[in-house]
Amino acid sequence: METHQGATQLELKNTRIHAAVYAQVLVNIEAKVLNSRVFTYKIPDTLLGDVQVGTPVLIPFGRQPEVTGFVVNILDKCDSTFTIKEITDVLDDTPLFNARYYAFLQWVATYTATPITQVLTCALPANLIQKTKKLYRLSPKATLNSARSLPEKKILEFLKANPKPYTGKFIGQKLKLPKKILRDALQTLKKENLVLAENELTQSTQAKTQTWVCLSANADTQLTSRQKAITDYLKHYGDTPQSIVVEKLKTTHATLKKLAETGAISLEDRAVIRDPLQVYNTLQAKQFTLTPHQQQAADAVMNSLPGSEHLLFGITGSGKTEVYLDLCRQTLTQNKSALILVPEIALTSQIAQRFINHFGQENIALWHSNLSAGEKADTWRRLANGDLKILIAARSGIWAPLKNLGLIVIDEEHDGSYKQDSPAPRYDARTLSRELCQRTGSKLLIGSATPDIVTYHTAQKENRILNLPERYGGRELAKVTLVDMKKERANGQRGNISRALVEALKANIAAEEQAIVLMNRRGFYTSITCKLCDYVFVCPQCDVSLTVHKTQQTASCHYCGYASMLPKFCPQCAGNALSQTGVGIQRIEEELKQHLPDARIIRLDSDTSAKKDAHRQVLDTFRSHEADILLGTQMVAKGLDIPNVTLVGVIAADSTFNLPDFKSAERGFQLITQVAGRAGRGEKPGRVIIQAIEPEHPVICFAQQQDYTGFYQHELVTRESSGFPPFSQLVRFIVSSPDEKQGWQFMQATAEHLKLKITEACLEQSVTLLGPASCVIGKIQGRHRYHLLVKNASGPEGQALLSRFYTGITPPENIHFLIDVDTQTLL
Ligand code: ADP
Ligand code: ZN
Repeated sequence: METHQGATQLELKNTRIHAAVYAQVLVNIEAKVLNSRVFTYKIPDTLLGDVQVGTPVLIPFGRQPEVTGFVVNILDKCDSTFTIKEITDVLDDTPLFNARYYAFLQWVATYTATPITQVLTCALPANLIQKTKKLYRLSPKATLNSARSLPEKKILEFLKANPKPYTGKFIGQKLKLPKKILRDALQTLKKENLVLAENELTQSTQAKTQTWVCLSANADTQLTSRQKAITDYLKHYGDTPQSIVVEKLKTTHATLKKLAETGAISLEDRAVIRDPLQVYNTLQAKQFTLTPHQQQAADAVMNSLPGSEHLLFGITGSGKTEVYLDLCRQTLTQNKSALILVPEIALTSQIAQRFINHFGQENIALWHSNLSAGEKADTWRRLANGDLKILIAARSGIWAPLKNLGLIVIDEEHDGSYKQDSPAPRYDARTLSRELCQRTGSKLLIGSATPDIVTYHTAQKENRILNLPERYGGRELAKVTLVDMKKERANGQRGNISRALVEALKANIAAEEQAIVLMNRRGFYTSITCKLCDYVFVCPQCDVSLTVHKTQQTASCHYCGYASMLPKFCPQCAGNALSQTGVGIQRIEEELKQHLPDARIIRLDSDTSAKKDAHRQVLDTFRSHEADILLGTQMVAKGLDIPNVTLVGVIAADSTFNLPDFKSAERGFQLITQVAGRAGRGEKPGRVIIQAIEPEHPVICFAQQQDYTGFYQHELVTRESSGFPPFSQLVRFIVSSPDEKQGWQFMQATAEHLKLKITEACLEQSVTLLGPASCVIGKIQGRHRYHLLVKNASGPEGQALLSRFYTGITPPENIHFLIDVDTQTLL
């Protein structure tokens, strides 16, 4: 007993127990040693009500007087032997996230082995976390005798004499007020609405503002009849944008300003909510009765337990989107919100249109990488306070702060764009969705006609597959014909387009129907070689051969963007016998034009759609039948639903799966099957022509039958024998260095070190290494690349070991060392 008391007294002597309220703040500065670390600050009395989890704050840190940070936790006491510093100021009264959200980000940080600050930077729209300055100005309500202390009075006088917003620092210097006194006075004035505080973003992404006319409390002072008309209008309609008041009441800005000086009204700058949907037209909504299969699927999801996941496995055109719409409707009825994830912008625009038709533009938000920072910040706020209940988004939509989430749909879940390859966090939106649904009790529905092998495998094991086995209205899948290009060549057909395809295109155009042609390689020619010495032109920065772009007359690298004029001489033998080989999409375009001089051809690839919105414009042109043939790379395989498309051609089908990557057969099958699914979605039946050098390849055979389960079983055998996913989790470590030898040595040493750790943990049976080796693309942007693959068959235990191992290593300065958990590519 005595010893126990003694110990307590001793502790008390060493520790000051602070009894006020404290905040843990995640410091937003880039310093590797500080990553993932939060520090405790005291909340000064003046800020007590304003500091919550998610509040951006200003804090003193080290020798820096003002650093930004986020409150991530509130403590009511704090045992510390150090003196605790105080939070200087609150940057925004509305918190940017809540405790639950932060816990989710922490989970992501652990899962992807990324510092929490980096996860936060990825998750929050950039201009919400930019450094901000707070500016103060006088409120129209303030009078000088409202001040209760001398410093307060001084500040009010200053702001009255200088009617512009100033930073607290500036005011302090002018009035020679000590920091703490200034801060307390400003806080009090702000609390009493005598001084208005506003944020000025130091970046140009500031929210657009608009002047509003607002009625004041003392509006009934003696007014002229014209002035009274204005206050009467405001009494009736409430605060109104100035432009509207000017227009409706035929008044002027000067009149309003004068009226504001009497104190009857005030003119306030408010943020304009940008509307990313304004480019879409709202069409009439048509609501369908679900087919029995669709109804079964929708019921299964709605009746499942909170947090459950289902795979909607339905062939192309089977009506998956209608199921999503129905579930979304039911979710809104429960007063919950829904997140619809879609692969890319092109698809976003089409699925968005269908959602808009059903729910109305005012209820839907869009979120993708082409949104401006301002648009993102607006949308973020409206989602967070529940004004918007449906979000249609690409991968990054997983970070959106939807209030009261009830449903996540992942459409075309096999699509590679759900995984972020770079920068960290290298996250998979599908994995994050699962976690988020479990945390929020939301339902998860993932849909595809060609699911990821891993997804299908798990869903089958757990009996969570919902089938839509036929196309809506009993429409047939398109008939697929294979063309053996070896035979075409032997029969003297030159060029890259078979006679069968040319004839089919001609007939199609004559019938006023449309066609999609897939060619999955950019450029005109894909390589330049010297006929005399076999020299191959490669990018000086990367181990990649240069592609000829005919319109710009350049040779360019698709990895780093390097471009040079087309060479005339070989740098090795100085000969001028250069040949351009390997077919790209631009060459196919030219050949199509030769075969079909009257056809209207439109091309879609990343060269034609680089500009914002160009992608959508190309698709709109095609949809409105201003073009007969849409020629494109994999972009044209995604989700297009155009009834008049009755023919699909696939050029060089082999090129889609001949890469040295464990997922390349899967990707090739998905691509061919998906593009084939674009044909015959309307009343008229469709047909597909696949050209290949090796038409007997299993990928092509299964794609011809559009037989997913056949392909799945075939591929699963290969995966099992090689131990690739779903039979293991793949974790990849990549080292890159400008110095070849140094990079390789570091990679080797790291691999040895890891082996040791695995043995120590007795996991050598289930966690196996492949490599280290040079990456398939051995050099990018002047950096030599090496990788080490780890097949983890021991679940979370193995993954935790790998993450811990990674976090514990600090590579030398010029070496980049990264980890990719659940890697989707080995290139
Ligand atoms: P998926 O998303 O599986 O490719 P969609 O939802 O686009 O399929 O459906 C294909 C076509 O069938 C669309 O034009 C859609 O409007 C129509 N459709 C689907 N389900 C129904 C239904 N229950 N009633 C009427 N039309 C439907
Ligand atoms: Zn390059």
